Amino acid sequence: MVERLKHVHKLYEDLGTLAAGRVIGVTRERVRQLLVKGSHLGLFEYKPFEYPFVAKETLIADYRKHLSLGRVAKANGITSGYLGKLLNGIPCNSGCAISDGLFVLTEKEKSVMDNAQVDTFGLRINQDVCFTTHNNKLHMGTTKRQLKIMRDMAPLLRQVLKPDEEILLAVRAASPMSWFEQLTTGWIIYLLKRCVLVFTNKRILHLPTKMNFKPKSSVAQVVYGDLTEAKVSGFMGRVLKLTYKTGKKESFNYVESPEFKKLKALLSTLPKGGQPSEVSERHHLCPRCQVRLVKEKFTCPSCQLQFKDGERAIRISVLYPGGGYFYTDHPVLGLGDAVTEGLLLILFVGALIDVLTGEKGSEGWALVAIFGAALFIEKAQTIYHAKHYVSEYIPVDKKFLPLTAPA
Ligand SMILES: [Zn+2]
Repeated sequence: MVERLKHVHKLYEDLGTLAAGRVIGVTRERVRQLLVKGSHLGLFEYKPFEYPFVAKETLIADYRKHLSLGRVAKANGITSGYLGKLLNGIPCNSGCAISDGLFVLTEKEKSVMDNAQVDTFGLRINQDVCFTTHNNKLHMGTTKRQLKIMRDMAPLLRQVLKPDEEILLAVRAASPMSWFEQLTTGWIIYLLKRCVLVFTNKRILHLPTKMNFKPKSSVAQVVYGDLTEAKVSGFMGRVLKLTYKTGKKESFNYVESPEFKKLKALLSTLPKGGQPSEVSERHHLCPRCQVRLVKEKFTCPSCQLQFKDGERAIRISVLYPGGGYFYTDHPVLGLGDAVTEGLLLILFVGALIDVLTGEKGSEGWALVAIFGAALFIEKAQTIYHAKHYVSEYIPVDKKFLPLTAPA
């Protein structure tokens, strides 16, 4: 008998679970009994594994914060399986230390878990619109996805949104870009031009972002009164097309697919008409005082906040290889540009020296002309891009203090 008890204990130690009994064809409960018996006889020491107790209220509060059972488990240092047992009230197998401490959720608590009375980062969100699918069903996945899009934008949004303004939907897309930009930058342009569009009951906020969808402290708006048409197209990529009263059209490409159907459904319900703006098309706002910024003027007319300006971008682009890109916070492009430009410069100077020292004749001049032209085009391209990037109105000092306290 002693041998048998020791054998069971060894198996239990080795495998770390009461299920070790399967090896010798006994149940978990029998293994537990044998371990308790052996422990009483002083053959070995057996302590049932202590499951940490987590209060039901804590779990529900954590769920509201994280919206994921996996993350709730992690936050409380327990396994997902154990969490499942706690929440569902399924009696755990023998050996579980708190089998009588399981929670059974009340109907109200269940509805909290299901309907996500979630933390909305202090933003006014119309949950009936924002957290529902395109056919208006409340959906957990949609809720999580919307909150994920808005989480990083929340501080900026809290500052920009008016007290009676309500968020209807947030969408990730790419800002409007010229064909020349697309042509000369290549596919990476879609990462550089990323943005979040926030549809509210008053307007569309256009928030240019970095590649990882983190905010750039840049805000533009489209008021509904300026639009003659807003439609989506799924042909050749998912695009939101806006037509303004001035006749100008803008396309937001690469609308991310989870929101596409919802966006399509939302567009027909958006307010029509309303007060137009002075410029009748999309325009940038000062992220500090919300005043409309004037085209080609890189100082806020109201609070004097300074933005990266076009003239400086040109000057820096002319003086330094890749300068315009570095100035507008595109270091990777800047580095690539600096290498290309540096190389062209070496070739150009080399060819020029050859000609001047008389080593080469007329074909030497041809080389000088070719490399010179290439260098010129390269510079012109940098300037073109830098000018476009400054049109996003990026504050020079990113740590500016908000003028208006969030309402
Ligand atoms: Zn301002």
